[in-house]
Amino acid sequence: MDIIYLVIPCYNEEEVLLETSKRLKQILKQLIKEKKISFKSKILFVNDGSEDETWHIIETLCWESDLFAGVNLTRNCGHQNALLAGLMTAKKYADAVISMDADLQDDVEAIEAFVDRFLDGYDIVYGVRSSRCTDTLFKRMTAEGFYRLMKFLGAEIVSNHADYRLMSKRALERLAQFDEVNLFLRGIVPQIGYPSTIVTYERQERFAGKSKYPLRKMISFAFEGITSFSIKPIRFICMMGGMSFLVSIFMLIYCIVQHFMGNTVSGWASLGTSIWAIGGLQLLAIGVIGEYIGKIYLETKHRPKYMIEEIRGLEEKKKEESNDEDN
Ligand code: UDP
Ligand code: MG
Repeated sequence: MDIIYLVIPCYNEEEVLLETSKRLKQILKQLIKEKKISFKSKILFVNDGSEDETWHIIETLCWESDLFAGVNLTRNCGHQNALLAGLMTAKKYADAVISMDADLQDDVEAIEAFVDRFLDGYDIVYGVRSSRCTDTLFKRMTAEGFYRLMKFLGAEIVSNHADYRLMSKRALERLAQFDEVNLFLRGIVPQIGYPSTIVTYERQERFAGKSKYPLRKMISFAFEGITSFSIKPIRFICMMGGMSFLVSIFMLIYCIVQHFMGNTVSGWASLGTSIWAIGGLQLLAIGVIGEYIGKIYLETKHRPKYMIEEIRGLEEKKKEESNDEDN
């Protein structure tokens, strides 16, 4: 039977953790009883440098039951990195790993469907939200716009799929080969290319607590996604530059013609505006290019994406495997 791990990144989730762990434990126990998954399956919480009691709760859970395990990161590394830390830890023990959020927004009942698809032979199963009626209109619209933009810019991305997904061990091994520091899992996973399918589910309201993704983080996440997967913005700027250059040539000719026809007026207004327009465009262009250069700079440093402080509830693996622990 296959060992399935659930990986859950947690950042200041003390309000939801007890309920989440209770529900997940129930589901896992049920699946073990039905002999769908091995009794060695576990729920692995990753504490992403929480400032509240989150790690304490995880420790207690691990102490109470073998079904739980925990990874404590040295500091807050962000959702994507915390998730990766969990996935890379779990892949040493599990045949397949399901990642989900701690806040019970992803329907836990879908876990069984995930496992079924995995048993059917799929390596990657994407959880796709069937509707977004519990999200605010604003979040729905921005999310919709984001997926459209990503597709337009040429990134392969599954619409309305967040980070609720199942990945087999061999898919995770492929994922581990992606060495980039600027991590956008949703864009990377479709590039692995193993057989994949989707499972739809209803997105719930957050069980308790506040969203850890305020608008600021959401925008930076979207920007990260776009600049990590597309160089179209740079091309677009080149095109704009070329076009405005063409326009300026026409303007020059026009001005000369007007001059010889004696129609020159004191055109300071149009001059003023065009200086602003061109200046603006240039700054924008430099900004976008700078963004990409910044990315290159970060990538060249090859800094570790996360650092694990301690692991609970998982027996130590042999030496050769623990070498790739912190990458
Ligand atoms: N999270 C994390 N590190 C962070 C921010 C969030 O591990 O820096 C976790 C958080 O605990 C939750 C998941 O990422 O399990 C998704 O966060 P949240 O539910 O706040 O995002 P939303 O659903 O509002 O987009
Ligand atoms: Mg959430």
